[in-house]
Amino acid sequence: MEEFRGLESMDELVSLCKRRGIVFPSSEIYGGINSCWDFGPLGAELKRNIKEAWWQATIRGRGDCVGADTSIIMHPEVWRASGHLENFTDPLVDCKVCKQRFRADHLQSDRCPTCGGELTAPRQFNLMFKTFLGPVEETAAIVYLRPETAQGIFAAYKTIMTTGRLKPPFGIGQIGKSFRNEVSPGNFIFRSREFEQMELEYFVHPEFAGKAFEEWVEIRYRWYLNLGVNPSKIRIREHRQDELAHYAKACVDIEYLFPFGWQEIEGIAHRGDYDLRQHQKFSGENLTYFDETTKERYLPVVIESSAGVDRTLLTFLADSYRVESERTVLQIHPTLAPVKAAVFPLAKKPELVERARAIEDELRRAFSVSYDEAGSIGRRYRRQDEVGTPFGITVDFQTIEDGTVTLRERDSMTQERVHVARLNELLAAKLKHNV
Ligand code: ATP
Repeated sequence: MEEFRGLESMDELVSLCKRRGIVFPSSEIYGGINSCWDFGPLGAELKRNIKEAWWQATIRGRGDCVGADTSIIMHPEVWRASGHLENFTDPLVDCKVCKQRFRADHLQSDRCPTCGGELTAPRQFNLMFKTFLGPVEETAAIVYLRPETAQGIFAAYKTIMTTGRLKPPFGIGQIGKSFRNEVSPGNFIFRSREFEQMELEYFVHPEFAGKAFEEWVEIRYRWYLNLGVNPSKIRIREHRQDELAHYAKACVDIEYLFPFGWQEIEGIAHRGDYDLRQHQKFSGENLTYFDETTKERYLPVVIESSAGVDRTLLTFLADSYRVESERTVLQIHPTLAPVKAAVFPLAKKPELVERARAIEDELRRAFSVSYDEAGSIGRRYRRQDEVGTPFGITVDFQTIEDGTVTLRERDSMTQERVHVARLNELLAAKLKHNV
């Protein structure tokens, strides 16, 4: 087997992402803006594939879950009811000497980690971004950019349940942007101020909540493994009693071992009936469910799975990165790979180019493909390896004679001769969604 090493520092990944236009600083022509990122063509494809894999596993592929897409700006009372206005704060400290700012709960000691200077006492800082609805900047018009997508689900829960004739246990999931004015963003896209979440709120009778929680922890953990994450680098960490939010009955984090240590990529929580109870109280709407069969009326309990798209993307990139003697390769799961196949004419001869373009056009109808005619074939393979393209298709003079091409596989680098007519079916089988 080929000798290789994995990712050793975040700098390597940041530099690959920059060089290949996967992810790079936003507004760079103006010098960039702290912790805001743009996803280029490959990054955008990768992100879509991650969201698609989540949506398939969590919503479409299940009979008990439905999707939603709720508004980013909501009625401000939502945030009063959820507790975010009062409690969604981080303790902030400033260094009196170098003026740097830190999250008190992230510090190991009570002196500045940069210069050793004395720190101010912690102040609570609310993480929600504020803005105004309409042209008048007055207190009555203050609204917030959502810091999580979950509250949109709770606020729409009754409508979705009634219009869909849903009956607990059922889940409502959504994917969308969230915003947090983080005190100390960093570690590339791990912590930023604008990011995407994939959240599922699963509503269940209180009696079955414990079991549903266990099941969701298992389902979500398996999702990462099925998508190829190295089992020795991912773990489930249960929250200690003193870490739990006051309303939560249980909570686990799914953590990944990044070059900067074990870090949360997803949280799964048994939230009791806290959310629906609060919204019922603040909105005055009855949010209970009446079971016609048992004649029981109750507030469902919520099991929540909350994953970050960007953190998940970083996980898949970090985990699949490997350096071998002759190449750097992203051994990313084919389902997630931004480009599924690259088509190469062996030489820049008109008949080969024409044939390769025709194959590209045909495959484009079903797959994300790219075409490359520049440089030696070895270089072209490496360019694709580096961004995780699972298959290379080379068109040569034999193709013109007998209609066969070379199909090269990214991980094993094996090559086989296959007929063009079989390409579609072969790729579909190899890329088959099995997660
Ligand atoms: P942390 O303790 O790291 O600030 P959290 O416990 O506040 O995170 P949750 O509120 O549980 O995070 O959010 C659920 C998920 O949303 C996280 O597991 C993460 O994947 C993602 N997420 C949260 N904050 C950010 C952020 N600032 N940037 C990118 N992703 C984030």
